[in-house]
Amino acid sequence: MRLKIVQVGEPVLRTPARRLTRDEITTDEIKRLIHDMRETMYDAPGVGLAAPQVGMPLQLAVIEDREDFLKAIPPAEMEEKERAPVPFHVIINPKIELVGDANVQFFEGCLSLSGFSALVPRSRQVRVTYWDEHAQEKSILAFGWYARILQHEIDHLHGTLYIDKMHSRTFSSFENLTRFWKSKPISEVITDLKCDDN
Ligand code: ZN
Repeated sequence: MRLKIVQVGEPVLRTPARRLTRDEITTDEIKRLIHDMRETMYDAPGVGLAAPQVGMPLQLAVIEDREDFLKAIPPAEMEEKERAPVPFHVIINPKIELVGDANVQFFEGCLSLSGFSALVPRSRQVRVTYWDEHAQEKSILAFGWYARILQHEIDHLHGTLYIDKMHSRTFSSFENLTRFWKSKPISEVITDLKCDDN
């Protein structure tokens, strides 16, 4: 079943989500939620969806950067963003650690801020430990776009949205992103919008 994705302004998006117990993870309710979130993410389409975005204040998110969606993206952009397919997986009760000092800036969007985008600085590399849908402990060392997806989704579980971290002067509708900014190098966008000190 497709779920309703709540939009910015809904209190659940600003509520720290609660952890799931090991026993809870394998219940029919949570299995159903994961199934429905997967379907909702495909349908949106998106590369990640956190439970608060469907109105559930739980520390659970689904992630997948699908190969068939990536075919439409030019190879140069894939390389610049260090983007590669990520298979479907579920992260529960994640802990994130930023690895190294490297920061990268790209435009990013959110299904709960439909139609908008902004330049958001993120750590290039992260380590995440979490439980999967079978309540097995897992660990990922991720870099590039995948690291960005993880930071974005885990922020959701703490009531944080990308607008809290963006260069606010770059906030743009999708339409204007395509029209004015998308084809420019990021360094030029930062200079043009005079946002390098923000
Ligand atoms: Zn989001």
